Amino acid sequence: MQLPLDDPRTGQLRRIHAALIGAFGRIIRPPDKRRSPEWTLVQGVIGAQTKTAISNASTDALLARYGSWDAVADVPLPELEAMLTAQSFPRVAAERLSACLNRIRDARGTVTLTHLSNLPTAEAMAWLETLPGVARKNSAGVMNASTFNREAMVIDGHHRRTMQRIGVVPEKADTAKTFDTLMPILPEEWSAADMDEHHLLLKKLGQRFCKPRSMDCANCPVLDDCRTGQQAISR
Ligand code: SF4
Repeated sequence: MQLPLDDPRTGQLRRIHAALIGAFGRIIRPPDKRRSPEWTLVQGVIGAQTKTAISNASTDALLARYGSWDAVADVPLPELEAMLTAQSFPRVAAERLSACLNRIRDARGTVTLTHLSNLPTAEAMAWLETLPGVARKNSAGVMNASTFNREAMVIDGHHRRTMQRIGVVPEKADTAKTFDTLMPILPEEWSAADMDEHHLLLKKLGQRFCKPRSMDCANCPVLDDCRTGQQAISR
């Protein structure tokens, strides 16, 4: 029986991954840097348009001050907003976080995501996406970047933009469409840790070479595999 051929984009993703490691080095999240699923969820819910390091610090500060996510769920909104002033949109972050934590507690009796460990990844992500303030980026983050360590590609703005320009996903794909396009064509040998590293490498590509308003295609490490870059240098 003839085996089905790989989608050509699978090989493209392997080459891009190798080229980015060549340019930036390995970016491997140590096991002790993986946070709990609940911490990862909170970091994502409050993190809209805010640098990762700032959201990480705000999430740590919440837990340090109140001691548990159940206690954070009970914090009045003005006080929660005051705790989140480093975020780009403190009021929105406070409202979303409070609604999200209270929805989990209503459903599970306490703020916990332990029940997701028994579900297949797609089902767990679908459950997470019913929560206020949780979309595909955050649900994939909870599954992949937390101690769950599941196979789910996290897609942020850098990842989406670079994949669009390279030509792996459609030009106008939103985060969910980008995720749905990428997951079936990822190299089968990639582990959850490889997906995490791939995302972090593409984020660096978006920050250093393929910025929202400017592209340094001539020096870009993935120029050979990029449709937009090839068009740009042939003009
Ligand atoms: S070659 Fe240009 S468009 Fe392509 S990823 Fe690199 S910087 Fe972006």
